Amino acid sequence: MISIKNVSKWYGNFQVLTDCTTEVKKGEVVVVCGPSGSGKSTLIKTVNALEPFQKGDIVVDGISIADPKTNLPKLRSRVGMVFQHFELFPHLTITDNLAIAQQKVLGRSRDEARAKGAKLLERVGLSAHAAKFPGQLSGGQQQRVAIARALAMDPIVMLFDEPTSALDPEMVNEVLDVMVQLAHEGMTMMCVTHEMGFARKVANRVIFMDKGKIEEDCSKEDFFGSPRGERAQLFLSKIL
Ligand code: ATP
Ligand code: MG
Repeated sequence: MISIKNVSKWYGNFQVLTDCTTEVKKGEVVVVCGPSGSGKSTLIKTVNALEPFQKGDIVVDGISIADPKTNLPKLRSRVGMVFQHFELFPHLTITDNLAIAQQKVLGRSRDEARAKGAKLLERVGLSAHAAKFPGQLSGGQQQRVAIARALAMDPIVMLFDEPTSALDPEMVNEVLDVMVQLAHEGMTMMCVTHEMGFARKVANRVIFMDKGKIEEDCSKEDFFGSPRGERAQLFLSKIL
């Protein structure tokens, strides 16, 4: 589904990604972790073609991002992304937040988009809030709306970048529960998160990044059982 091949990226002279290679197969959940500044966000954004890279290639569902002929907006519309900050449109109701991209990008009718949005809102347990504005919802509720909004586009894969790290602790689980449910439904997911409980529950693989390199890429059993590198061990000892 996603194949990252020898990707390197520089910001000026600073190399932020060094020869990153990994794969996310259909239905797989891959958790990406590592210290601050290790390049996790940058890596995940390259998958969505939100960050250009200078070397290597990423192939999403058979489509090469490095190929200049690729229609990147079209590719992006099939890759759902949920960030740390919810980034809902503050001036639109939840209903409209869910419908707008479906209408503008996928060309769905208003009714069709609203019906799909309503279904997804129900799935994340927020039907009662459809007419509200984002500012009237808690952080956890807004993040669940953000997930529903991404799902409304019928993505072939979902990317998450620390979706719970800006939330108050009591709201973390309601968002993780939605992500766990998604994983159980077979969604292909690449998740930057330090929620190791989530990783233990649903991850097929764990990637550990350090200084722009993928230092570990293994099954969760291997990762939690015996992380090979010293840096991964140190990282785990700090967060567990
Ligand atoms: P965090 O856990 O803090 O979110 P991260 O692993 O997601 O960190 P990135 O945000 O990918 O790390 O950043 C990797 C490195 O690239 C950092 O050293 C960061 O300062 C640098 N960086 C990120 N964006 C830019 C930019 N636009 N220009 C220059 N350097 C950048
Ligand atoms: Mg980050």
